Amino acid sequence: MANLEGKAALVTGGSRGIGRAICIELAGQGARVAVNYQANAAAAEEVVEAIKSAGGEAFAVQGDVSQPDAAAAIVKTTVDTFGGLDILVNNAGITRDGLLMRMSEDDWDAVHQTNLRGTFLVTKAAMRPMLRARGGRIINITSVVGVMGNAGQANYAAAKAGIIGFTRAVAKEVASRGITCNAVAPGFIKTDITSAMTEQQVAAVMQAVPLGRVAEPEEVAPLVAFLAGEGAAYITGQCIQVDGGLVMA
Ligand code: NAP
Repeated sequence: MANLEGKAALVTGGSRGIGRAICIELAGQGARVAVNYQANAAAAEEVVEAIKSAGGEAFAVQGDVSQPDAAAAIVKTTVDTFGGLDILVNNAGITRDGLLMRMSEDDWDAVHQTNLRGTFLVTKAAMRPMLRARGGRIINITSVVGVMGNAGQANYAAAKAGIIGFTRAVAKEVASRGITCNAVAPGFIKTDITSAMTEQQVAAVMQAVPLGRVAEPEEVAPLVAFLAGEGAAYITGQCIQVDGGLVMA
């Protein structure tokens, strides 16, 4: 039997990049997947079709994770469709980079709203079905930037560090109910978020990363699937980096 056979999963920001790869990996291991997106319906439908054409089960669910009603509705639609929620992957995220001196309050707030508040709101909405089932897996996508900082990303680094603290608090709060909560911190992954990097920035990454390259989204997804499966039953409150060795603590 596949690792995640029959499990009900919700992936926020599943329409593109790392979230897309996570949806396809979870479905490939047998999970039924709700593919959340904010604006890009065509991309979300493409992910659903890719899963269905491989024999899996998936549907797209629109909603802005930073809005309480939308976050609750995304979880409710998933539970109504699948009859429960076993795996939640909080992946939706944005960047609004800029040096602190010039960073606007809007850029600070927008990054916190989607990354940190979105993670809080969707996790909160997922608590009831997981507590009722006395089990569940929560996996929050943070970033190495939340661990080591990065010039020009004070807003993003703070939000992603917040997600690590949130992960540990939730892990302690729900451990007795059979729910685990972990964070995955990717390094530099080839997606729309990193496509804006200049050649010089990419060259600097190559130098800083011991494995000497940028990674594909498909190189992050297997760890998420592992944390969602039986083999990770005794792992909680951890932040695991997938970064080619960029951060070694
Ligand atoms: P991406 O390619 O830009 O995709 C972002 C995804 O998030 C899209 O599916 C987008 O939906 C969705 N989204 C954005 N705002 C949303 C909102 N308010 N509500 C619901 N969905 C929303 O990003 P990515 O590079 O794959 O990043 C995915 C996650 O990994 C993020 O949390 C990011 O911070 C983290 N990360 C990325 C890297 C990297 O190198 N790429 C490194 C470390 C961490 P639409 O398609 O509808 O816009």
